[in-house]
Amino acid sequence: MKIADILKQDKISLSLEVFPPKKWENIESTERAVTEMARLSPSFISVTYGAGGGTSAYTTRIAKHIQNGCGVTALSHMTCVGTDREKALGLMEELSENGVENILALRGDIPESGDYKKDFRYACELASFIKSHGDFCVGGACYPEGHPDAPSIAKDIDALKIKEESGVDFFTTQMFFDNNIYYCFLNKLYQKGVKTPVITGIMPITNASQLKRIISLSGSIIPTRFLAIVEKFGDDPASMRQAGILYACDQIVDLIANGVHNVHIYTMNKPEVAEAIVRNLSEIVK
Ligand code: FAD
Repeated sequence: MKIADILKQDKISLSLEVFPPKKWENIESTERAVTEMARLSPSFISVTYGAGGGTSAYTTRIAKHIQNGCGVTALSHMTCVGTDREKALGLMEELSENGVENILALRGDIPESGDYKKDFRYACELASFIKSHGDFCVGGACYPEGHPDAPSIAKDIDALKIKEESGVDFFTTQMFFDNNIYYCFLNKLYQKGVKTPVITGIMPITNASQLKRIISLSGSIIPTRFLAIVEKFGDDPASMRQAGILYACDQIVDLIANGVHNVHIYTMNKPEVAEAIVRNLSEIVK
């Protein structure tokens, strides 16, 4: 099923995300985690694309497993820095032959080495290439706190308008930990006339080192309320895990109460975290 059609349904969509293993010998254990997540009946499961594109075959294999092995709609990520035109066409053919109808078109982070594919400069170029060479539903990324490379949030939103005009069917947000930042961002999108549906990305932080990694990678603003949680529970793995899941659920409940319909959970190959969230929201997301 195309994600654009899932988003049109009159119900809350709750989707999950996995990443492919770094080594081929771990592919089956990743597939087992995906199978467990699929039992939760998510609206779709997305699978990320390794930064340099060297593990693109793993992404495709997991996408096929989601779609055909588990019978859940798959969203396969693809990046400009890891894909030239020829490779994109090959991946699209394989995905299409296996019934995968959705691709998230991304730029990827530019490696300092300068060693990366340069056929597509921005994600919008990859998105319009995919749109014009196949029958795919294509998504793009957006950043409630602004993309780190953008000179300003206004310029970043101008770029999102260009991405919309390139034909993307939906946006998925980068994680954020303060819903007010997201509501302000949505407001700016509407002011700019962006009408593409937005899927709201939420990351459950289940250990203190994960938080440090996120701050250094994405630069997300961490509210003092959440810092207090990490301060109190960070050294006790079971308590931190529970508190992180509850914080994510609290964010989701507030989002849904304020009209959000589509929530994507960055579940990081942890079926037990996905399960705890789905269970906590069982009366809210049916
Ligand atoms: P773009 O949309 O190309 O934007 C990059 C920068 O260029 C921004 O600053 C933007 O403002 C600017 N820009 C964009 N278009 C234009 C234009 N037409 N003119 C001028 N400026 C422009 N990375 C991976 O390697 N693999 C993944 O699987 C992956 N999945 C992700 C999923 C989500 C939901 C998100 C939010 C991010 C993901 N990333 C992934 C990270 C992403 O690749 C990086 O954040 C990357 O730096 C930017 O990607 P983008 O698609 O947003 O790029």
